[in-house]
Amino acid sequence: MNKDMLKLGSNRSIIRELFEFSKLKKAELGEDKVYDFSLGNPSVPPAECINESIKDIITNNNDTYSHGYTSAQGDNNVRDAIANDLNKRYNTSYKKENIYMTCGAAASLCITFKALVESSADEILAIAPYFTEYKVFVEGTGATFKVVPADLDTFNINFDELAKVITKNTKAIIVNSPNNPSGVVYTKENLIKLSSFLNEKEKEYNHPIYIICDEPYREIVYEGNVVSHIPSLYDNTIVCYSYSKSLSLPGERIGYILIPDKCFDSKDLYLACLGAGRAYGYVCAPSLFQHVIEKCATYTSDMNEYKKNRDLIYNGLTNIGYTCVQPQGAFYLFMKSLEDDAYKFMERAKQFNIIVVPSDNFGVKGYVRLAYCVSDTTIKNSLPAFKALFDSYKK
Ligand code: PLP
Repeated sequence: MNKDMLKLGSNRSIIRELFEFSKLKKAELGEDKVYDFSLGNPSVPPAECINESIKDIITNNNDTYSHGYTSAQGDNNVRDAIANDLNKRYNTSYKKENIYMTCGAAASLCITFKALVESSADEILAIAPYFTEYKVFVEGTGATFKVVPADLDTFNINFDELAKVITKNTKAIIVNSPNNPSGVVYTKENLIKLSSFLNEKEKEYNHPIYIICDEPYREIVYEGNVVSHIPSLYDNTIVCYSYSKSLSLPGERIGYILIPDKCFDSKDLYLACLGAGRAYGYVCAPSLFQHVIEKCATYTSDMNEYKKNRDLIYNGLTNIGYTCVQPQGAFYLFMKSLEDDAYKFMERAKQFNIIVVPSDNFGVKGYVRLAYCVSDTTIKNSLPAFKALFDSYKK
């Protein structure tokens, strides 16, 4: 048996642990007495287009079309629809040949890493704070996972730290904006600076360094913050996308990889993704949902709900006295722990039936993450508990 896999399967992620704890607490105290901010499960229903399309597809097509295999890289019409949607948004000229359909962002990332990594010396960098599963996905390919420490003032990219971490073995850097867990949208200036920095490093090391742009929260963005289309700023960019959050379909496992023509070795890279999909047994993303995406690629769920929740929780917590990073996108709030050890703070919060995730898991110390994709009633009811938690530190 593979001992690393045994270890991975035995050590459940802290988020899953907390989710299980919350279920037990809810059974004991009642649903409305537990304020669970642990899991990033969209709380807004899918756009109407989704259920209408499902009915339409299964009513008007034969089962092989609706439920059968598609080509390994995905149905042609679906990939056309996605390319067209992107071209309208970003004034690009993508074609279906640039799109590879996947089972969500997790598969998009795993396939991309597998397609790029050649040896254990290869390094893939993530910018803290970062989505915890990156480490698992990168190490699953045998490559080395390295972290660029956070810029704790802006939560944008810390270039002094990046300069220290990058080496000639760096294959790629993951950029996740809007960011899980900080809720920050990286500024265009920051991304242009990253692009120039990497161009210099590519020259110095004489090989391409890819940006792997993980953007499942692309459409969840507030107050005119703009999520830059990174391939328009930096040629060697691969986009890993998913409809899990934008269309509230996390359980349906549907997303794609975009490999623009401008990307170094793009045709071979696409073929390597096909190979990685085969090696992982990920061929053919769910067929029914590919067809749904063909019809709904231009839609999103109602993002106003997240904005309302964002305001409710950010204002509620800062009024109590908590220090929070103001979320510009996604549905996460990064809040300063009231003691240095965020695990201890998490344990204290549990005593008030509040469930939050310590930031150590995201590569930063001293914060907790709150996923506010919950009902507004949960947020409103949680505020007195947050106040009591805050006051408990004055005693
Ligand atoms: N990347 C980030 C930043 C995420 O937050 C998530 C899920 O929460 C994923 C990737 C995985 O997304 P999916 O469910 O589409 O695989």
